Amino acid sequence: MTDAQNKTDPFDMDERLDQLDQKTLKDILQWHLDNNCADLIENQPYDRMSPPSMEKISQTLHETPELQQKVSNSLKSSENSHVNSNGTRGTKKVYSTSEALMESQKLAAQCSSLDELKQAIMDFEGLSVKKTATNIVFSDGNPKAKIMLIGEAPGADEDEAGKPFVGRSGQLLDKVIASVGLDRTSDDPEKSVYISNILNWRPPGNRTPTPQEIEISLPFIERHIALINPDILLLCGSVSGKSILRSKDAISKLRKSFHNYQVPENLVETPKTIQCLATYHPAYLLRSPRQKRLVWADMLLLKTAL
Ligand code: URA
Repeated sequence: MTDAQNKTDPFDMDERLDQLDQKTLKDILQWHLDNNCADLIENQPYDRMSPPSMEKISQTLHETPELQQKVSNSLKSSENSHVNSNGTRGTKKVYSTSEALMESQKLAAQCSSLDELKQAIMDFEGLSVKKTATNIVFSDGNPKAKIMLIGEAPGADEDEAGKPFVGRSGQLLDKVIASVGLDRTSDDPEKSVYISNILNWRPPGNRTPTPQEIEISLPFIERHIALINPDILLLCGSVSGKSILRSKDAISKLRKSFHNYQVPENLVETPKTIQCLATYHPAYLLRSPRQKRLVWADMLLLKTAL
């Protein structure tokens, strides 16, 4: 192999096309014509392997009822066609991202209690992180609390205990909230907090959840928020802040002030807005202890709101 070939980036389509001679290009075109698939050739090369934008999928599904119907039909037919290892027909299937999103939206909207929501998340097969996790990590704290805190996803300790924020970051989190008189074990709704995460399953190796996993999980956590109906949402870390607030801003920009979270209309009878404060994740504070002063400032803001 020459040096030039060695340097080829296999994903750079322009570079790859530049290296093909005219004859090879003609052969490729002829092959497409012979096989009736010339419409696959477009003027501009693009990477068909790159994942689609979740926002786009979500919006397209929302705006295109015919597409929703198609996805829903494909869900039904593939559920019926799945054959279990013992030969019986089953309901397990491999979900595409848009199918998983539609299914999580449908299931979440049907839940009218926390128990139903937990069961729906446990039954949902559209997230592969469920298969590698040990336990569901649904929530901790007082469901009557005025404050609901949302983290990113469980880690190893949480996966083992089946409870959010019980490891090192959880211990720091308990100290942070204690600094403003809050305690997840309190029975008093004014003093307690209710805790959950964007994902209810631990991503393997504690990796950051993918945009697809976040988008598919959002209907569940949004339903969770609607059922708890807190006065204030405290969003811990960038994944939680950006996904609940549907923002691309960094957590350094989102923190320091309250935002309005509009509960999706299909989840409440009357329109509802919840005050929302984003702050740094305790795991970040463990790595960068100097930033604790910024979280302290956010906690003072929370205290004034309380
Ligand atoms: N980090 C989170 O975001 N959530 C947990 O539950 C634990 C660690």
